[in-house]
Amino acid sequence: MADDSDPHIRTKGEYPPQLQAIVERIEPGWWPKIEVGKGWWPLLERLDQRLAQIDPAYVARRVRADNGHLRFEVTPGTHGVSLHALKGAVNEAAAEAARTCEQCGREVSTTTLHPRRVESYARNSPVH
Ligand SMILES: [Zn+2]
Repeated sequence: MADDSDPHIRTKGEYPPQLQAIVERIEPGWWPKIEVGKGWWPLLERLDQRLAQIDPAYVARRVRADNGHLRFEVTPGTHGVSLHALKGAVNEAAAEAARTCEQCGREVSTTTLHPRRVESYARNSPVH
């Protein structure tokens, strides 16, 4: 049974415009979903802008949170664009995601222990 409160469960057309732009880039045949909590949406928006600067036709294949890690599979859509450059931008966003609460977007300090972090560690996800 679907849980409406789960921020990961979104279907096409239910995203704010800045994320819908990413969904539209997902290659046909791949799941047209962004399975990432709201706390990471702002950094996804910035990542999309960065990738579009590198390659205006970049193609996404999968955008999801996996065990607290941002997985953003990307491939060039323009001949001659470096996959390495695209992946560099993705890696920077993933590093930012690792420091950001996936639920509320606040910075997660590795030195701050919060009761909910016990649960977070159990899920291996940077929420607090
Ligand atoms: Zn939070």
